[in-house]
Amino acid sequence: MLTINEIFHSIQGESTHAGRRCVFVRLTACDLRCSWCDTPYAFHDGRKMELDAIVAEVDRHGCGLVEITGGEPLLQKNVYALMDRFLEDGKTVMLETGGHVDISRVPAAVIKIVDVKCPGSGEAHRMHWANLDRLQPHDEVKFVIRDRADYDYAVDVLHRHDLAARTGAVLFSPVHGVMDARTLAEWVLADRLPVRVQLQVHKYIWDPQTRGV
Ligand code: SF4
Repeated sequence: MLTINEIFHSIQGESTHAGRRCVFVRLTACDLRCSWCDTPYAFHDGRKMELDAIVAEVDRHGCGLVEITGGEPLLQKNVYALMDRFLEDGKTVMLETGGHVDISRVPAAVIKIVDVKCPGSGEAHRMHWANLDRLQPHDEVKFVIRDRADYDYAVDVLHRHDLAARTGAVLFSPVHGVMDARTLAEWVLADRLPVRVQLQVHKYIWDPQTRGV
C-alpha cells in the first residue's frame, strides 16, 4: 500500500529524457518546504492504493517510461517494492528525489534524478551529501537556481564532487518565473560549464499552474 497524490500521463519535462511520453506516479508527503516548491498539493492530499492498482493505472496508458516523484517519494517504505515491480514489468523507471534521503536502497537499474538544494530553497542544510557518492553513470543531478548566490553554490558543488564526469547529466534549472533563463544561460556560457540549462518543458506546453501534466 502506498499513498498516491496523482498518476498521470504527460511529457517528461525536467531531465535528459525531456520530451518523451511518461507516466508519472506522484507520492504524497514531503518533509522539506522549498521556497519555490511547485507541488505543495502533494504534501498532504492523497489516497491509499494497493501496488496492483497503481500498476494497473500506469499500464492503462501504454507507456514504457515511468517516473516516480513527489513530494518526496523515498519517505514511503513501499516505494522500493513499486520500483521493483515496474522493473520486473520491463519499464524504464526514473525517480525524482530531493537529495536529503539516503538513496542507497534504490535499485541500480532505476535512473535517479537527485536534487541538490541551493540556499535559495531554504533547505540546502538538509542535503544528504553521501548520496553524491552513490550516483551511477545513468543518474542525473539537478540544481534549481533562484539567483546568483544559488548559481555560485551550484558551481562549487559541481566542481568539488566532479559531478559532470560521474553522472549522465548535471541540470541547471531556473526557478520558473523568478530566475531569468537567459541570464542563467549567459553565466553558464561565460564559465564554460559542463552542464545543461534545463527549462521545465511542461510549463511551456501547458499553463504553469496546471496540475496533472
Ligand atoms: S522537495 Fe520537492 S516536493 Fe518537497 S518541498 Fe521541495 S520542491 Fe516541494
